[in-house]
Amino acid sequence: MDVVNPATGERVDTYETQTEEDVDAALDRATDAFGEWRERPMRERERLLESAGDVLRENKREYAETITREMGKPITQAVAEIEKCAWACDHYAEHASSYLGADHHPSPPGSTVKTVYEPLGPVLAVMPWNFPFWQVFRFAAPYVTAGNVGLLKHASNVPGCAKAIEEVFREAGYPEDVFQSLLIPSDLVDEMLEDDRVRAATLTGSGPAGRSVASTAGESLKKTVLELGGSDPCVVLDDADLDAAAETGAWARNQNGGQSCIAAKRFVVVESVYDEFLDRFVDEIDSYVVGDPMDEETDVGPQAREGLMEEVHEQVEESVEAGANVVIGGEPMDRDGQFYPPTVLTDVPEGCPADSEEVFGPVAAVYEVEDEAAAIEKANDTQFGLGATVWTEDRERGENLARQIDAGCVYVNQLVKSDPRVPFGGVKESGYGRELAEVGIKEFLNEKTVWVE
Ligand code: NDP
Repeated sequence: MDVVNPATGERVDTYETQTEEDVDAALDRATDAFGEWRERPMRERERLLESAGDVLRENKREYAETITREMGKPITQAVAEIEKCAWACDHYAEHASSYLGADHHPSPPGSTVKTVYEPLGPVLAVMPWNFPFWQVFRFAAPYVTAGNVGLLKHASNVPGCAKAIEEVFREAGYPEDVFQSLLIPSDLVDEMLEDDRVRAATLTGSGPAGRSVASTAGESLKKTVLELGGSDPCVVLDDADLDAAAETGAWARNQNGGQSCIAAKRFVVVESVYDEFLDRFVDEIDSYVVGDPMDEETDVGPQAREGLMEEVHEQVEESVEAGANVVIGGEPMDRDGQFYPPTVLTDVPEGCPADSEEVFGPVAAVYEVEDEAAAIEKANDTQFGLGATVWTEDRERGENLARQIDAGCVYVNQLVKSDPRVPFGGVKESGYGRELAEVGIKEFLNEKTVWVE
């Protein structure tokens, strides 16, 4: 696996790809490790997770630089990503026991009935490059602490991150093989899913990858959690704080180079505040520093991999051919590396790529709608349902509107984010299952009923 720095186009590392035989041996080791790991008291597993959080914090600059070198995330955002992983470790180190304490049920006289939570075994995680540490810790912190063991198949452009994460667990003192990173191409994933030693799978990534993993796992009756794409609406109502909506909305769309499933992508603005919002939104985006992701001043770096920038540009070009208007941006930047400028489109016709597909880059589509009812209709006019934002000074109105939007989460007057304390996941083509919080740690467990008479 060649690692190409997307900011420069230079090859910076090469890793050897693992073979089917390596996978077979890794699965044997995972099975053995599970036998021992599941017997460890929960308190010990929590303490090890706490140490993993410490290792992340101690080495955050080094890990952040690996992220930036491999996928181009601006360094300050990469450091923040590592800190967030440490937070997830702290969260489950503190709460796993209480999340998984036995549930007691109303019992017939003379009997005791409870639900106990037991791990399933090795869980395969197929993960993407956009948050190469966070997506992995979001899965590993809860599932491994619950007593499962982790097998990571990371995206092929971030093998250094994959190995560094394995190292975090080793340095924290985990037993060998409780967490393993496998540097394999995606065509070995089906075999792993069909193998009895793999008990469940989680994938974060594109729709086609999700469908493939879900159908193969389904053939073997294995549970999956899928976190797929999104085309999140950001609804701006007539009573919104326009400065906050423009500033937060611009950042939601452009952080991580626009490569986030929960980025606000379609800005749906009621006509009475449309012009004012658009002015402030464009001014804010225009102020971003685009450039070297290792520079602390940079807001927007390159797209993560060769080919991704071209895909984004094709989506913009097709949208413009269909009638969209480019307010700023709209052409790849004239410099080395995969740099696409923050772009704003208006008059976006229904059905063009910027309207109907996920655009995984710094491209905002802004719509003018008549009123609140039209805003809800436009917000829901998508195959996706991951997150959404609503801007209004009236909290009750915001909550009512949140309930009318088809999405896994709706944030009122706030950036959509994944947070260890609250469930995260989507509906419709954004996937199913939930990560994080209490519901997240319970996704890959045997919820066993024990009835004692
Ligand atoms: P993919 O979905 O192809 O990659 C994500 C992960 O899935 C990688 O580990 C990849 O491995 C693996 N994978 C790909 N195809 C299969 C398959 N058939 N079976 C099993 N595993 C598979 O995303 P891309 O990197 O190609 O990005 C394409 C688009 O996907 C983006 O433009 C964006 O729209 C969406 N995406 C969404 C993300 C999200 O957070 N929801 C994250 C990343 C992408 P390998 O790298 O070896 O191919």
